[in-house]
Amino acid sequence: MGEQNGNDGLSRRSFLGKTSAVLAAAAALPRVGAAQQDPDMNSGAHTAANETQPGPKNPALDAMDPDSVFPPETDAGGQPPFKYPFSFSHKRIESGGWTREVSVRELPISKQMAGVEMRLISGGVRELHWHKGAEWALMTAGNARITGVDQKGRGFVEDVREGDLWLFPGGIPHSIQGLGPDGCQFILVFDDGNFNEFETFLLTDWMRHTPPEVLAKNFQVPKETFKNLPTKELFIFARDLPRPLEEEKKEVSAATGSVPNSFAFFASQMTPTKVSAGGHVKVVDRSNFPATNIAAAIVTLKPGGLRELHWHPNADEWQYYVKGKARMTVFSAGGHARTMDFQEGDVGYIEQSMPHYIENKGDTDLVFVEVFPTPDYQDISLAEWLAHTPSRLVNQHIATGEDFLRNIPRKEAVVVPE
Ligand code: MN
Ligand code: MN
Repeated sequence: MGEQNGNDGLSRRSFLGKTSAVLAAAAALPRVGAAQQDPDMNSGAHTAANETQPGPKNPALDAMDPDSVFPPETDAGGQPPFKYPFSFSHKRIESGGWTREVSVRELPISKQMAGVEMRLISGGVRELHWHKGAEWALMTAGNARITGVDQKGRGFVEDVREGDLWLFPGGIPHSIQGLGPDGCQFILVFDDGNFNEFETFLLTDWMRHTPPEVLAKNFQVPKETFKNLPTKELFIFARDLPRPLEEEKKEVSAATGSVPNSFAFFASQMTPTKVSAGGHVKVVDRSNFPATNIAAAIVTLKPGGLRELHWHPNADEWQYYVKGKARMTVFSAGGHARTMDFQEGDVGYIEQSMPHYIENKGDTDLVFVEVFPTPDYQDISLAEWLAHTPSRLVNQHIATGEDFLRNIPRKEAVVVPE
């Protein structure tokens, strides 16, 4: 497995990179037939007249998207794109870090979920705020301190590091601060495609838009108490590092106690849910993280590994590629299928019940997350469907012979090879 990691997108093409059989036959190219017999044979440079591109081209983007330059023969018809690189998003840069987002405005099919990338320097604070939707997060670098307060006034403070995650339910106020030595980076996922990180309910923005005499009356203090309120929102800003964790935990839980279910989940220390030769997966949902209403799977595929053919019957899937190179084909019924290529920092999106696979196409481990706006992780794989349907009936459809069907493992693989 593992195609060459070359710079030339055309040379990376596999045998599937042919145009239609009709055109190929018309051009009388003997190599087409030979390539079909050897799936691993690179059919070459696509130099036939019907495959070359004498006009303008973009070699850098083409190299990242070989399955768009020459789609697999199995691709057909049009369907909306299901990929958006964070690299295309506007980056808002502040003194304490930066942020950018991929919402339904950037990726129109992502109606149920939106995502944000954020960097906070050491001491950099994402201002105290809340929003209507729930926030699921995965730390992708460094260390952070997170805080929250629930509807019963119970406090929460925790430190998280790369590979850990958190969930703040909708409406719960919270904050994030980068710790030493070099702050952090993380992704946020929201169960609302219209979410906008630049329009959240901010502590300073709200107080600034409340009459000072009302603030004074609210807290029974002189209104001069608020004379140093910032004149505009802080959003992301730099401050000193927080006090020791235990000290701040004790402070926020005074009188009301701590939240009953932690908003943090230490996925970096979690034993994988399923391990196979091709990689492993960590499933984090309500069954092991009671605070969450957003389910997720953190998938690692070794070179050549495949996240097997499957679909999700209960929700859309939002993906983020943490490292490595991948390709994914989404079949959208009615004869339509499209293959797109993914790499670090790309967002992928699959609508509910549309079948797909993810294949590691690089020479290194592929790591990506699948996130779902539902508390419970669910999937159905092609293999388990066929394995638990009468072999006589399946064979009447696909004519593989019943021996193949009887040998499909009875339990779902998730990642192959097993
Ligand atoms: Mn938030
Ligand atoms: Mn999936």
